[in-house]
Amino acid sequence: MEITRNGVNTTPGRAEWFTGAVFVDSVAAPSGGARISASSVRFTPGARTAWHTHPNGQTIFVTEGEGRAQRRGGPVEIIRPGDRVFFEPGEEHWHGAARTRFMSHIAMLEVDEQGNNATWLDHVTDEEYGA
Ligand code: MN
Repeated sequence: MEITRNGVNTTPGRAEWFTGAVFVDSVAAPSGGARISASSVRFTPGARTAWHTHPNGQTIFVTEGEGRAQRRGGPVEIIRPGDRVFFEPGEEHWHGAARTRFMSHIAMLEVDEQGNNATWLDHVTDEEYGA
């Protein structure tokens, strides 16, 4: 058993992977044979991920605010606290806050054999975000 007592710093989301200000807390990290990775992610209004995929898919659980999510080719969906979204392995998608609201979610996934959690693509344009 290992207890991490509020000892992991909140880190800003990398500019290559996000538009706008995003802050990430690590909830669970892969270790040994365990592949689970979980993060609490806070998006400021208008902030969102870039387009990306996850090798083994991803579940997000919205805990606060109002968000947006979209899979490639689908409509921009409104997501709210209590909503759970699963993205299929390899499915191109993005997730983020509404334009005028914060959004927080817990993101959960399993990394691949090499420890990769995502493949990052283009940023979500304002046109795509507002569509
Ligand atoms: Mn994702």
